[in-house]
Amino acid sequence: MPSVTRRRRIKRDRAARFRRANILKKKASRVWATSSRHVDCAQCGVRRTRCRCFEILPARGMLQTGPFRAYIRFLEGNAGGRRFLSDSLDISLLCQWLNVMIAQGGVSMMLFAGVVFFRHFNRVSSFGAIVSSMEPGKKAPTWKELEESLQETPSLMKAFARPHFLRGPDGSMVGQDMRQNTMYFFRSLYDHKHAREAADMLIRGIETPEQYDRLEYLMDSLHSHFPGVLGSYRRKSLYDIWVEVNAISKHALRSYPVAVGTGTAESLKILYGISGSVSEPVLRKLLVHLFHRVRRSSAFRAEKDSLATIALTLCGWYRSKQRLQHDGVRMSGLERGIQLEEQEYLDLRRELRASDLTWEVQEW
Ligand SMILES: [Zn+2]
Repeated sequence: MPSVTRRRRIKRDRAARFRRANILKKKASRVWATSSRHVDCAQCGVRRTRCRCFEILPARGMLQTGPFRAYIRFLEGNAGGRRFLSDSLDISLLCQWLNVMIAQGGVSMMLFAGVVFFRHFNRVSSFGAIVSSMEPGKKAPTWKELEESLQETPSLMKAFARPHFLRGPDGSMVGQDMRQNTMYFFRSLYDHKHAREAADMLIRGIETPEQYDRLEYLMDSLHSHFPGVLGSYRRKSLYDIWVEVNAISKHALRSYPVAVGTGTAESLKILYGISGSVSEPVLRKLLVHLFHRVRRSSAFRAEKDSLATIALTLCGWYRSKQRLQHDGVRMSGLERGIQLEEQEYLDLRRELRASDLTWEVQEW
């Protein structure tokens, strides 16, 4: 049992840290400032007002009037509560963490690794592992602490998530189990030169389509170096966070990752009247095409919308059409997803309050 003065000191320190995080959040939800005032289209390079990209024919299929109207109505109706990136609790939580890390002088690789680690399992509950193993003043995470935290997490994978892990040259899983596999991946990634280059680029801020191309090249290289992990779906989840904190400017987005079989991909197929399978490069092109059409509609919000928000809302649109039953209540897949996420978030807050970690999750 700590003494009264020590307890007071802990309380005071925690309050100070929390206040600092709050001040930063009020100043800007984005950590990185952007300098580009006159905005060019990342696809054609001319000013947004003169861009004619909406006239280009889609890479496949045709934009269907009925579904497109329905999607625009969905956007106008706040997209079921997931209209913008910051509406997702997991994205918001990671942005809070990045704010605090930056304010306390966290090194670029630690920021990069924190986001990759969080997205690896994509669980709010694994957040505690990041907070406890990555301290701002240090050059690298405390690996032992990270491994222990992973051991304490009962289920690493999110409900309904496809397990993904680092594979060896013969396609089999590296290591004895998921935890060993994860630790091996994390440690090797931390030392990889392309991960370090990407981390440095992100902390400086990616502002042009050319810089974005370089990031894409580095991520491709990391994906081929670490087979089984950092695929399109994870890459999209990483980009969502980096776009939200403005480490990647939305004006630099030449295209955006869309994984086959996801809600975003399925929605694109509905919108373009495609019944067969579609490759990832084509899905990326369809997303860009749709973005330019949405940009001309009343649902577009110039200050916040980007390829990232269009991808996010397409996923929500697809899930909003799925019907399921939970505890005798009929709801959509989207509503159930939000419910699960909120429950996980509440559990995490309780968990962090009970632990000795000096971290406070903001009221929602
Ligand atoms: Zn254009």
